[in-house]
Amino acid sequence: MEKKIETVCVQGGYTPKNGEARQIPIYQSTTFKYDTSEDMGKLFDLEASGYFYSRLQNPTCDYVAQKICELEGGAAAMLTSSGQAANFYAVFNIATAGDHVISSSTIYGGTYNLFAVTMKKMGVEFTFLSPDCTEEELNAAFRPNTKAVFGETIANPALAVLDIEKFAKAAHAHGVPLIIDNTFPTPINCRPFLYGADIVTHSTTKYMDGHGSQVGGCIVDSGAFDWMAHADKYPGLTTPDDSYHGVVYAERFGKAAFITKATAQLMRDFGSSPSPQNAFLLNLGLESLHVRMARHCENALAVATFLQDHPNVAWVTYPSLEGNKYYDLAKKYLQNGSCGVVSFGVKGGRKAAEAFMKRLQVFAIETHVADARSCCLHPASATHRQMNDEELVAAGVSPDLVRLSCGLESKEDLIRDLDQALRG
Ligand SMILES: *Cc1c(COP(=O)(O)O)cnc(C)c1O
Repeated sequence: MEKKIETVCVQGGYTPKNGEARQIPIYQSTTFKYDTSEDMGKLFDLEASGYFYSRLQNPTCDYVAQKICELEGGAAAMLTSSGQAANFYAVFNIATAGDHVISSSTIYGGTYNLFAVTMKKMGVEFTFLSPDCTEEELNAAFRPNTKAVFGETIANPALAVLDIEKFAKAAHAHGVPLIIDNTFPTPINCRPFLYGADIVTHSTTKYMDGHGSQVGGCIVDSGAFDWMAHADKYPGLTTPDDSYHGVVYAERFGKAAFITKATAQLMRDFGSSPSPQNAFLLNLGLESLHVRMARHCENALAVATFLQDHPNVAWVTYPSLEGNKYYDLAKKYLQNGSCGVVSFGVKGGRKAAEAFMKRLQVFAIETHVADARSCCLHPASATHRQMNDEELVAAGVSPDLVRLSCGLESKEDLIRDLDQALRG
C-alpha cells in the first residue's frame, strides 16, 4: 500500500517481523559474526550485502536512512556523522582533483568554507553564483570538467529560495546531476526530486532531529541520473574499482550505485560514520517531523507578521511572508510552509540589536537553529564579530540582523517576548 508522508514519518524504514521489537533496535556493535570466511569474503567483494564493521554500515543507521529515503522518494540513502560529512561525500563522490562544481553562493557558511577553502586545497574548483542568476549566467558557468551543481532549497541563513527547476534544467542540459541540501524545509515542506534534483543532502542535526540531541547527516539518491550515459565524466562510477576486484558501480548496483560507492569508498576511507545511538535519537525526531514542521512554520509566520508591523523593526525576511522577494518561489516549492527561521533588523543597528538580545526571556542565544526551543543569534556580535560594519554588509550580514529560530512554544509567548525586548 502506498503510504502518505505522515505515515512514513512514523512507520517508515523499519518493519518488525513477528515477535520482533516494535521500536528500531540499537545495534550497539562494531562488528558482526559469520560462520565461514567465505561468507565474510563475499561482503568484502561487494557480492553479498550484509554487515561486517560499523564504520561502513550498521543496521540501526540503515533503518533510519531508509526512512529518510522513503520521505524524499529516493532510491537509496546513507547516514553520515554530520551534515558537513553528507555534503562533502555527496560532492567528492563525483568531483575530485581537477574537477569543477557550480554552487549557489547563498549556502550555509560551513558548506561555503568546505567548498571554497578545503575542497579547493584538494583540487576541486567551485564557481559560486547567485541563486537569482539568469539561465544565461548559469549556463555560461559550465566548463568541460564541471561534474555537479549544488544549492540549498532554503539558504541558511540568507533564506533565499532556490529555483530548483532552473538549476536542474541547466545541470541536465550539461549532463551533470543537481545536488540539493534540503535541510531547512525537510521533505515535509519540499521534495526536491519532484523538481528534477538528483541527489539530496541533509543536516539531520536540524529539524529532522529537532530536539538538539544529535549531530548527523544524510545523503539520498533519486536513482534517476544515468551515469552510464555520461560515462566519460564519471569514471569512478562507470569503470572498474580495483579495490573491490574490478566492480563497476553503475553496472552492478543500478539505482544504488552512487550510495554504494560513497559507502564502499568514502565511508571506508574517511569514516564519518554515525553512531547507532545517534541514529536511534534521530528516528525519534523523525516520528514527529510532520507534526513539528507545521507548528514551526505556523509560529514563524505569526512572528514574521508581527515583526513586520513593529515600530522598532527595520525589516523582516521570511520566504512565506507576502511581499518577500522569494514569496512566489516559496508558493511554488514550499506549499506547506517554508521553515521556522526568520531574520529581521532591529532599528538602531548593532548596539540596539545587542540590547534587544539581552532582554529576551523565551528565545535563548545560541548558534543552533531548527530546535524545539526557540533561539536567536546576532551574527555581528557572535559568528561574525571580527568584522566591522562595512565588512558585514559585504558579507550579506547587516549589523542589525538578528536570526530567530522559532520553536514549538506558544506563538503568543514568542510574540510577547519579542515585543517586550524590542520596546526595552
Ligand atoms: C547546519 C547545516 C549544515 C551542516 O550540518 P552539521 O550537521 O552542522 O554538520 C549543512 N547545511 C545546512 C543548510 C545547515 O543548516
